[in-house]
Formats: sequence, structure tokens, C-alpha cells
Amino acid sequence: MNERLETTAEGVWAMGDCAGSPHFTHVAFDDYRIVRDNWRGAARSTRGRLIPFCMFTDPELARVGLNENEASHSGRAYRRVRIDIGQVLRTRTLSETRGFLKALISADGDEILGFTALGPQAGEIVAVVQTAMLAKMPYIALRDCFHASHYGRRAGHAVFPRCRRVPWQAPRKGGVYVAGWHQRNRHHSQPSVG
Ligand SMILES: Cc1cc2nc3c(=O)[nH]c(=O)nc-3n(C[C@H](O)[C@H](O)[C@H](O)COP(=O)(O)OP(=O)(O)OC[C@H]3O[C@@H](n4cnc5c(N)ncnc54)[C@H](O)[C@@H]3O)c2cc1C
Repeated sequence: MNERLETTAEGVWAMGDCAGSPHFTHVAFDDYRIVRDNWRGAARSTRGRLIPFCMFTDPELARVGLNENEASHSGRAYRRVRIDIGQVLRTRTLSETRGFLKALISADGDEILGFTALGPQAGEIVAVVQTAMLAKMPYIALRDCFHASHYGRRAGHAVFPRCRRVPWQAPRKGGVYVAGWHQRNRHHSQPSVG
């Protein structure tokens, strides 16, 4: 099978689980769209797809992009910022404060490398960050934008202000920075979140 989802048998295509794609319904559907478009003459492939997932536990666990293990193994220096999800004020009105938000940001730029959410509607939160990653928006775009009410977007307001633009620590082994507003500037007043 190639990245266009053509098998070695002429005229036979594969999609979903049997194509060896990550086992998610949304991936199977995207495979279908790739095959459909290639049938119509497009040149679409599965290469480099940004694949989010959401585990519909209570609370939900969702991620897009790299987790910390993957980021470490990539050898790329990154900054990590993590907050308890209870700092997103909406979770308090929902009485669902279990969980966390974690963002990995490139150390040499403002690129979002990965984002993990454990908490209520984590899948919705991750969808917002996924869109930003697809648009190659720097994390500061999410930090500085504001929204009327959407919970997922507001979560971005809570976590991204914690990430400093300039890494403050020398890279440890593997080129990993551990940085964050909450670690470095604990004595400062907190930015408003919610
Ligand atoms: C317990 C469980 C929980 C899951 N939870 C999630 C989740 O929360 N979120 C998520 O995104 N994904 C989840 N998945 C994965 C998701 O269900 C699959 O990745 C997705 O269904 C794959 O789609 P598909 O079309 O490739 O295969 P399928 O949905 O398995 O469809 C294949 C179809 O082909 C039919 N078929 C098989 N052999 C033949 C044959 N010889 N002739 C004709 N028809 C045939 C089958 O009956 C079936 O209808 C879960 C999977 C399992 C097993």
C-alpha cells in the first residue's frame, strides 16, 4: 500500500483499519476522503496527517500532535507548560475540575508541537488547538485571541499565557527545556483565565 492508499493490486484501494491507519473512526473517514479524491484525479496522501484522538472516558482524554515521549525522542528542544484544568473557570461552574492541560511549544520558535487535555470536553479543547496547528499559527495567537464563550477556546487562554517566549533554562539532556510561566514567575500575579 502506498500513501495514496492504493494497494499493490491494480484498482484496489484500502482505507481505515485494514489500511493500517490509526484505528479511529475519524481516520477511517479521512482515508475515504483521500481515496475518493484520488479516484477523481487528485494527488492526496496520508503523509504528515495531524491526527487527533479523544478517549471518551470521564473525564475525556484528548491529544493532538506530540506527547512528551515523542517530543523527547524527536531530539527537538521544546518548552512545556502544564496547568490543572481547574484553572479554567468554566470547569468550576461545571463542578468538573479533574484534569490538566499540557502544551509543548518549540524552543526555537512559537510552534505548537503537541497539546494534551484531560478534563471535561477535552476533545473540544483539542479541536481548537488542532485548527491552530493546521494553520501553523504560533501559540501566541491562541494566547492573545479572545472569544465570547466557547469553553475550548477559553482553555487556550488559560494555558498559553503560562508559556514564556524565551526559554529560561539551559537545555537538559535531549535538548528539552522545561519552562512555564507558573514555574518561573510564581511571584507575579496570575493573568486572568476562564
Ligand atoms: C471496542 C472498540 C472501541 C472503539 N472506540 C473508538 C472510539 O471511541 N473512537 C474512535 O475513533 N474509534 C474507536 N474504535 C475504532 C473504530 O471503530 C475503527 O477504527 C473504525 O470502525 C474503522 O473503520 P473501518 O471502516 O476501517 O472498519 P469497520 O468499521 O470495522 O468496518 C468494516 C466493515 O466491513 C465489514 N466486513 C468485514 N469483512 C467483510 C467481508 N468479507 N465482506 C463484506 N464486508 C465485510 C464488517 O462487517 C464491517 O462492517 C473502536 C474500536 C473498537 C473495537
